[in-house]
Amino acid sequence: MGTLYVIATPIGNLEDVTFRAVETLKSLDLLLCEDTRVTRRLLDRYNIEVRTESYREQVHFQKITHVAELLREGKRVGIVSDAGTPGISDPGFRLVRDVLAAVPDTTVVPIPGPSAVVAALSVSGLPSDSFVFLGFPPHKKGRSALFKEAMSQDRTTVLYESTHRIEKALAEIAALDPNRQLAVGRELTKMFETVYRGTAAEVMAALEMTSTKGEFVIVIAPK
Ligand code: SAM
Repeated sequence: MGTLYVIATPIGNLEDVTFRAVETLKSLDLLLCEDTRVTRRLLDRYNIEVRTESYREQVHFQKITHVAELLREGKRVGIVSDAGTPGISDPGFRLVRDVLAAVPDTTVVPIPGPSAVVAALSVSGLPSDSFVFLGFPPHKKGRSALFKEAMSQDRTTVLYESTHRIEKALAEIAALDPNRQLAVGRELTKMFETVYRGTAAEVMAALEMTSTKGEFVIVIAPK
């Protein structure tokens, strides 16, 4: 049976790729990408020549059938997402789940590396011996319930949020607990990397002084 490599890639700074990830990428028969154009930047930077296919463009079951055939032939298949560790709040998990269902004897190998949740937590200064990760809050239905859940934890809680909803998220947090301490990581590992610390209102004021553009991780102190 073949091997499926689940390969973490940088969350911004291309130098954050691991040596093992580069060597593994070079060795593959096929690399499945969330978006081949995004991954191309990384492959070009390290002169990696590998056949790539998007796992989002085709109908999912067609893709699984094709990948399952390769794995039954003993081939080496890799999966990457646009950024970070595949499966962490991105569609990578579906592929791993469905490959295992189709070819249960597949060896699935992690090639660990960056993930925004761990990067943000590591610089937050908040307790991280145990934490809760809630991913992206829903846009509408269930959003306020998720924030209530996040704010009621007695462990540090981490959320992902997009540039479109970061101000809304901070307002929702402020309404639930104006004194709660946060660490908000923006554009981690990139040119405009910033970590904002303080209450939701303080973070909001600081964001307004700089920019609300970019990718965000919100780390919330325990209750
Ligand atoms: N699989 C990725 C990982 O391991 O972190 C997460 C993918 S998820 C679709 C994308 C979200 O992760 C962004 O909206 C943002 O919340 C967070 N994120 C990714 N890169 C980031 C960065 N450089 N700085 C801050 N947040 C980031």
